[in-house]
Amino acid sequence: MPNTQELYQELILDHYKNPRNSRKLDAATHHAHGNNPLCGDKVDIHLRITDGAITDVSFEGAGCAISQATASLLTEALENKSSDEAESLYINVMEMLTAKEECNTEKLGDLAALASVRDFPMRVKCATLPWQTLKAALDNKMEITTE
Ligand code: ZN
Repeated sequence: MPNTQELYQELILDHYKNPRNSRKLDAATHHAHGNNPLCGDKVDIHLRITDGAITDVSFEGAGCAISQATASLLTEALENKSSDEAESLYINVMEMLTAKEECNTEKLGDLAALASVRDFPMRVKCATLPWQTLKAALDNKMEITTE
């Protein structure tokens, strides 16, 4: 039986190789572009929000496996969520990614796979990039840089 760590690595690799919701989004109501110069990652997050509900979400991007797999996991996690739920998910995931200690990841589902990047401090910004870009999109900011 593979252990949890191996399953998480496989999940990240799978999202990198078969990204979910990787496309342009016509009639997006919210969009932001994120840039992580440290690694060369770029992510665009597109959202369609109707009456506070996320009715469609997609990303476009280029960069390392962590950044692109995170963007894919993010879009999957936002399906059928409200914009308020997206905000709290952003807070929870950012807490998890920057926590110094183990934290409770039970309610985060597949997103818990991202916790492993804390073992690689250089890669943390690769994983926070899509989330910061999401936050920028929700706040109607056009562009963010991780530094
Ligand atoms: Zn990266």
